[in-house]
Amino acid sequence: MNINQLSKRLMCVASYIPSDSTFADIGSDHAYLPCYAVKNHLVKKAVAGEVVEGPFQAAKQQVEEAGLVDSIDVRKGNGLEVISKGEVDCITIAGMGGSLIASILENGKAKLEGVQRLVLQPNLNARGIRQWLIDHHWELIAEEIMEEDGKVYEVLVAEKGQPLKPYSDKLEQELLVGPFLMKEKNQAFYRKWKREAGQLEVVLKNLKKAENQAAAESKKQAVLSELNWMKEVLRDEKEDS
Ligand code: SAM
Repeated sequence: MNINQLSKRLMCVASYIPSDSTFADIGSDHAYLPCYAVKNHLVKKAVAGEVVEGPFQAAKQQVEEAGLVDSIDVRKGNGLEVISKGEVDCITIAGMGGSLIASILENGKAKLEGVQRLVLQPNLNARGIRQWLIDHHWELIAEEIMEEDGKVYEVLVAEKGQPLKPYSDKLEQELLVGPFLMKEKNQAFYRKWKREAGQLEVVLKNLKKAENQAAAESKKQAVLSELNWMKEVLRDEKEDS
């Protein structure tokens, strides 16, 4: 990956950044995404935020080498503390766990005023993000799921709005697999949930072997209902997936 050629995952994130917006990429590492977005005239200005010294230096160097220091501000700091209220229209957070992404949003809530769009790419636990979005009145407006180098990635796009709009009465199941993704059910979707169901079967088997069955019971019930939701979405799996 470089600033001219992003990974499929980051290309997908880039495609949801509103044109001509100012955006902040939090956890930017090499600042590939801001460099790509500015170089390709998707946006005029960006902030690259990074909390760890090594990736922060890598981002600074990348921006300098690309000659983009006037358009991309590389800032060191934790989560949304690198931006001020009203400074950006869009925030991207990619390549981290869903719980970390949700905690960055939670801790930086005050900075979200004026932000019009969030583009979030969790490596796992997208459910935690969907729940956070609902709890904070963000409406999920699009979702993507794709496979790259054997890994399955999800991208969640949200704007301020009606948080429950994309969900039906199958809320718990849709929080897990994604309301839009559940309708589309592409190959990557089936692959992800087949894998996850397989892992849960192992967890369930181990729970059934636990010495203290009374203590394992509530965990077993939770795993069972999750497994049933997965099996339900996999039921109509196409032959070729
Ligand atoms: N966003 C890039 C991507 O998707 O390819 C880089 C992903 S990298 C795996 C995650 C980066 O997020 C790391 O460089 C890490 O230091 C940074 N990070 C983790 N927690 C952070 C936080 N609270 N604030 C800012 N950056 C953070």
